Amino acid sequence: MTTNTMLRSLRCLVAALVLFRSSNLVFATDLEVEEALGENRVLVPYAFYNKSLDTAVVASIVLVFIGVTYLKNELLVIDGGMGGELQRRSGHTGGLWSAQALLDDPELVSKVHTDYVTSGADIIITNTYATIPSYLSKCGMQNKYVELADVAAKIARKVADEAPNKVLIAGSLPPLGESYRWDLVPANETAQPIYQTLAQTLHPYVDLFLCETMSCVRESVNAVSAARHVAGSDMPVWVSWTLAEEPGGGLRSGETVAEALGALADYDVDAYLFNCTTPEAITTGVAELTELTDKPIGAYPNLFHVPEGWTLDNDLQVERSEMSVETFLSFASAWQKAGVSMIGGCCGIGPEFIHALSSSKLSGCPKV
Ligand SMILES: [Zn+2]
Repeated sequence: MTTNTMLRSLRCLVAALVLFRSSNLVFATDLEVEEALGENRVLVPYAFYNKSLDTAVVASIVLVFIGVTYLKNELLVIDGGMGGELQRRSGHTGGLWSAQALLDDPELVSKVHTDYVTSGADIIITNTYATIPSYLSKCGMQNKYVELADVAAKIARKVADEAPNKVLIAGSLPPLGESYRWDLVPANETAQPIYQTLAQTLHPYVDLFLCETMSCVRESVNAVSAARHVAGSDMPVWVSWTLAEEPGGGLRSGETVAEALGALADYDVDAYLFNCTTPEAITTGVAELTELTDKPIGAYPNLFHVPEGWTLDNDLQVERSEMSVETFLSFASAWQKAGVSMIGGCCGIGPEFIHALSSSKLSGCPKV
């Protein structure tokens, strides 16, 4: 259970105590309860007693109900994949991938965000996965990364501000080379200034930084240290690692989750997540992570299975997974039981999955 959940549960129980105390119930000492209840004391929590045993029993039942309801893990719903959804809707599969829409059709980016909010997402992620110099350099636009990140952040902010409910914006800090290619992670002295510039650009518009699809320890340290530098102590910094497709294989680099966590000890990371991998790998990763941290844990899997050597723009084809919405929900349920408090989707997981998740009883608890 997260600290936030515990605090909320405590608040609910305190509120219940105040309610009952003001409605003819009094606190009783152990001795008074012993004397008054006699043989019936097993039926009543010793904290409450009124002259009427019936009232005390009813109070107990209501308290247990409130406790069960509010002690359940809350679930924050993260949005689904952005890049694939933009491609599917625009029919544009080449160019600069998700950054292309910022140039051609910013309104489409806004529409995808809005559809996720309408589907019940509590957290939307900025469309900044491809607004990085290396990717934009494919079209000679490497110097436009700040400008495009700014456009993406403003779009997300507008959607969140116009949402009928509270929606948080996670500013995406992605891999600066190819996704999954831990062997192509830029040198630290190259990566950190870029991450800092991206974070500074996003900072005015976002509620937290999300260093996502981190494939190795060094990549996550570069992104998280830069994010924390910009965030200071006021803004949360989350990190999300991509795991080897084979469950139990650690990060894509082969480094362990424990090693990755340990390397970030100095940066006060606020939440740990896994994304952009198979749900089976995430299940194993979650079991490992819950043994290592009390911080909130999140998960947003791929629908696809990704073959060895795949990159965003090579010829290798991802393998379509048969994961249905029902299977996704059953993974989500298992993760929640294991202690995961934030769930969404990555590549191939669209608004229909997010809607099903937010409509399920999994997320039936109060939101932040
Ligand atoms: Zn993905």
